[in-house]
Amino acid sequence: MSDSAFLLKSIIDKVVADVRLLPQEAAILFEEADLLTLGALANLKRQRLHPDKIVTYIVDRNINYTNICLSKCRFCAFFREEGAEGSYVISRKELAKKIEETLELGGVQILLQGGLHPGLKLDYYQELLEFIKSRYQIHIHGFSPPEIIHFARLNNLPVETVLERLLAAGLDSIPGGGAEILVDRVRREVSPCKCSSREWLEVMEKAHRLGLKTTATMMFGHIETLPERIEHLNLIRQLQDKTGGFTAFIPWPYQPGNTSLISRPAASGFEYLKTLAICRIFLDNIPNIQASWVTQGAKVAQIALNFGANDLGSTMIEENVVAAAGVSYRLPESELIRIIEGAGFQPRRRRMDYALL
Ligand code: SF4
Repeated sequence: MSDSAFLLKSIIDKVVADVRLLPQEAAILFEEADLLTLGALANLKRQRLHPDKIVTYIVDRNINYTNICLSKCRFCAFFREEGAEGSYVISRKELAKKIEETLELGGVQILLQGGLHPGLKLDYYQELLEFIKSRYQIHIHGFSPPEIIHFARLNNLPVETVLERLLAAGLDSIPGGGAEILVDRVRREVSPCKCSSREWLEVMEKAHRLGLKTTATMMFGHIETLPERIEHLNLIRQLQDKTGGFTAFIPWPYQPGNTSLISRPAASGFEYLKTLAICRIFLDNIPNIQASWVTQGAKVAQIALNFGANDLGSTMIEENVVAAAGVSYRLPESELIRIIEGAGFQPRRRRMDYALL
């Protein structure tokens, strides 16, 4: 056996023995192992964490309160400049209508996110949360770390104070958006005005300490190298060791349509499945891995359930950000159920904290 084959076998043996991988071992596994071996190892890891045959999903809606954003990330097709055609800030009437429609469809959560608006102060967001909570019984999963850092800067307040005020006004949990790749070389290229890697992690650590659960994401397949992708996973794993506050990890490939970043095609299904499998294997302390049907479509998402994913995310009654990049997969709840059952699993609705409904 050659040295490289011996090394690969020793890494595979570690995964089978349920021993944590080093970052460099994860990179070798990604590069050297064939697709089906990676899938089998990720599936083994998933079965250990979730021995039941359940795949979860949540009925919710993405509500983007504004598309006005001063960040101008190079991968984003969603934002508009203030005053530009198509720019908006949601009205209370529109917000109420969207929440009522969500509740009528059995929704239990809204994902409330928006652009980094230059003029809306923290009071606006506190009142927005209070408005929702005073009228509706719905979980508010809102404001990713770049938004929290933006609020802190715009209001000249510490991050803790921003989080405490939002929590008091009704915020229930925080989405892991805006992480892209948590390496500042990459961030300076793709989203130079957004928070740094350290700031993103700091918001999550502080949120976890305040008792807010969060998710974590990774947008891959643009300008990052494989070691940078693994570095991203390592930073998430290290923080999870400290706080235990991440409920799930969601890797999704960069969608190049209508953006100014790079003219390369989106990551293939092959690369997506390999990356998903490495996430499941490496992030041994994160309980749930979500498949991204919104970027991959139903067929790849179904295969993903055998490559480490145990969750299909949200029914996304409404989704605007990925759709702005020209990707518009749409799945009603009945179709999500069909996909899960077709892959041999039992579908179950869940809440943000993954409690089954
Ligand atoms: S990704 Fe978010 S922060 Fe970046 S430009 Fe788009 S809306 Fe703004």
